[in-house]
Amino acid sequence: MKSNSLGTLRTNSVVPPLTRPVVNDKVIITTHVATTIKKQSVRLCIGAMCFFFVLVTAGFLVGRLWNSSQPDSGSGSYLYSAMRLYEDATGVRNDTDLEQVLHFVISDMGAKWTYREFTNQRFDTVLFYHPDRCPFNRLQYNTALNNALPSRFDGHKQQSWWAGSGQSDVSSCICGYNGVDIMQILYSEDSKMHRVGVVVHEYYHVLQIHYCRTVYDDRTHFVMWLSEGAATVLQNLYITYWLETHPDYQDYLFDPNHGHVRQMIDRVKSKTFIYDSSLNTHDGAQNNYIASTTALLYLIYRKGGDFLQYALVDFLFSGDCDLAVNGGMDIGFKNAFGIWDSVDEFYTDLNSFLLTADTPVIESMRPTSQQVKSLFNHTTLCSDVCTKSRNGVCDADCPFGSDCTDCGPEDMPSEWPIELRYEYKRTEDRHVDFYRVY
Ligand SMILES: [Zn+2]
Repeated sequence: MKSNSLGTLRTNSVVPPLTRPVVNDKVIITTHVATTIKKQSVRLCIGAMCFFFVLVTAGFLVGRLWNSSQPDSGSGSYLYSAMRLYEDATGVRNDTDLEQVLHFVISDMGAKWTYREFTNQRFDTVLFYHPDRCPFNRLQYNTALNNALPSRFDGHKQQSWWAGSGQSDVSSCICGYNGVDIMQILYSEDSKMHRVGVVVHEYYHVLQIHYCRTVYDDRTHFVMWLSEGAATVLQNLYITYWLETHPDYQDYLFDPNHGHVRQMIDRVKSKTFIYDSSLNTHDGAQNNYIASTTALLYLIYRKGGDFLQYALVDFLFSGDCDLAVNGGMDIGFKNAFGIWDSVDEFYTDLNSFLLTADTPVIESMRPTSQQVKSLFNHTTLCSDVCTKSRNGVCDADCPFGSDCTDCGPEDMPSEWPIELRYEYKRTEDRHVDFYRVY
């Protein structure tokens, strides 16, 4: 158990649409469904007095604003869905695939990483339509959900990341108010694959925080690409594992022409990007998550392909992901990965590697299908992401093993079990006729 107390943390996933590459003067807008994250604030206190202060202060504020002075540990994790309200109002079942994806993915990852939400605290999920990128007639269900939420969300509704208020520039996130306690997922109209990937990505952040409480403290030891790269690589390998034969599958990482690695080879060779310590933070990195995935993939490549298991699983289980308690950024990095004496040394090495890399190198960085399969070799589903979980009664209507405490784990299906809804195609106006089914 770590002695540190995590304050307010926000990570966002902004999902660009599937388009051809566009490069402007500051950021890469990728052809692929990359995930870009902004972290707004992390407040971390160390030491007993500070911990006590945070407890008292947070308890006071939470009590005033949520009408409750204690975390709710007595009931299940609630899923609040604007898509469900749409279905209830219209009878059209089109949009509830995200709800199913959420249940399945978290039960899948929960069984692998042996974790069920935040300990002794309800971990709610809210599903909103993307305020900037959804059919116009869906927005009313965001408003309806916002108005229907219980009072414990009153504080969340005041936050800048909250999507229920209709404001622009919001995104999927693990977020909170005096602590991370909800997952906000926005319906991805653009990509079926990302509808799955965004849940994997955000829930992996939950796992990172669970196993390494200080992982997002960026004052001294935060290595942004290590955390975000892992979440993004994992989401893509997850899609590869489950959906490689799906007609809409794309290889976002290793495609020889458009993949993340190819894009970074081109950028380093053209001197439009050089790896350095600016990639240690969200702000400095200008949300360049293609660079993050490529750095992580190179790290695994240098260590040998079987290192995938350590980088994405055992790095968390072992607590090695907490660089702070393992000697700080450079010593903690060397403790986990060896080879390089410092993170800066890793950057120098990676720049040299990419300068001479070519298409066969990209292929040699790709994990074998056996290595991907062994990442997901567990045989059960288990989570408590159901309203009726942890109530002492096994509720069979909690889908995909999501009442695991009461029912025990479910067997893993042999094939991806959810039909992913159609995609929309962007037209001209922002909302009116913005998307058409194709
Ligand atoms: Zn992220």
